[in-house]
Amino acid sequence: MNSSRRLHPDRDQPTVSDRDGPRDECGVFGVYAPGRDVARLVYFALYALQHRGQESAGIATCEGGHITTLRDTGLVSQVFDEQKLRALDGDMAIGHVRYSTTGGGSWENSQPVWRDDGREVALAHNGNLTNAVELYNELRERGIDFRGTSDSELIAALLSVEEERPIENAVAAVMPRLEGAYSTVVMTKRAVVAFRDPHGVRPLSLGRLGDRWCVASESCAFDIIGAELVREVSPGEAVSLTADGLESRQVVPSEQPSHCVFEHIYFSRPDSRLEGRVLQQVRGRMGEILALEAPVDADLVISVPDSGNPAANGFARVSGLPKDDGLIKNRYVGRTFIQPGQELRKHGLRMKFNPLPEIVAGKRVVVVDDSIVRGNTTRQIVGMLREAGATEVHLRISAPPIRHPCHYGVDMSSREEMVAHDRTVDEIARELGADSLAYLTLDGVYEAVGTPREMHCDACFSGEYPLGDGGEVDGKFALEQIAVASPG
Ligand code: SF4
Repeated sequence: MNSSRRLHPDRDQPTVSDRDGPRDECGVFGVYAPGRDVARLVYFALYALQHRGQESAGIATCEGGHITTLRDTGLVSQVFDEQKLRALDGDMAIGHVRYSTTGGGSWENSQPVWRDDGREVALAHNGNLTNAVELYNELRERGIDFRGTSDSELIAALLSVEEERPIENAVAAVMPRLEGAYSTVVMTKRAVVAFRDPHGVRPLSLGRLGDRWCVASESCAFDIIGAELVREVSPGEAVSLTADGLESRQVVPSEQPSHCVFEHIYFSRPDSRLEGRVLQQVRGRMGEILALEAPVDADLVISVPDSGNPAANGFARVSGLPKDDGLIKNRYVGRTFIQPGQELRKHGLRMKFNPLPEIVAGKRVVVVDDSIVRGNTTRQIVGMLREAGATEVHLRISAPPIRHPCHYGVDMSSREEMVAHDRTVDEIARELGADSLAYLTLDGVYEAVGTPREMHCDACFSGEYPLGDGGEVDGKFALEQIAVASPG
């Protein structure tokens, strides 16, 4: 999934996320359920996946051989209302939520993508192709035009022009040509097919809804619609949901999975299940191990809400320190808001977090968060806690330092923007104004996750890219550069 224009992180930023964490995840969902209100099922599933993408949302349904797609920028609840959902009838449907930087062209890159270059398809994708430029050039040479600049549209175009019939065979023909990360759902007039790259970088799960089937980026989407998690779609597998039920094919052999370990640390919702475990518990365990690895003499544990909560609970359990809510989060600050102007700007972060002096004053405070990318938010939190009277601020992070960019679908900022870039942990602590700082080790992460490191990608921590590093090219924007160089 590609973003549109890239913004300067400090100067040119009309949006605000909950924190300065990684961005650019997406969420996908698909369901085949004749007789059910499929648009409403997708709506609620996307609602549960909203954390994976807050810039645009879309649903495509298929009724009587006719595919209708509705997508727009905004949250799921902003894009859809009763009237629009009622217009989206069908036996099957897919949906998508998208995270990206903002700017021109963001609507064009919203999903599901619809194409009809021989076969009508609607498609939703989470991930990032590392050979997008090659595929784009090849398709352009064949006279294929594109409306957006997303690699998702490339996959849709490849499936649309593919002569193999039916769609399951087209997916089998196209998958070996795709490199990088892709958890994808495609819908034709007959089927919803979900397929996952042979490394299984981004998550994708299969669910059962009565006697029908559905697929989702995360299992929390099943809970909200009363479906049951059956299993994860295997790396390299394609599952087809049709009137005949479920059909599975191992399209590309998967010798070595590379599941994104950051899904366990931060991206996925704590009530989602990955690799057999609910993430609330996995993250709590990360906090417990962090307390063992990096104990601190302090009076109080607080979390950076909400994503730091489970690890803070774990840290408090093992350290024996009391835990309280020293930072209150405004849950209604969206990604986009009117800029506060010079006078209010200095209070900027209080729009998201407000410290409670009554809780932290006079205390040596341990602040637990799940990750730090650029460090701007963390630095401000440390400053606010000191202003609120904390006598010491100790940072404990339930992930290792992020020092490398992600080439597999997540916008982590460039290496130079990362606070851990070229700095020791002591230097980072100084940069953030903290009395001490400690990160969970990679061994600690995997002890909590419970599955071996060999099965995962941890490139943003280790710099070891299991699918190759794309020659250090920022592949996410490569298509935009080409499109600008040769528009149309
Ligand atoms: S580089 Fe980091 S965020 Fe990207 S897939 Fe690997 S572990 Fe996940």
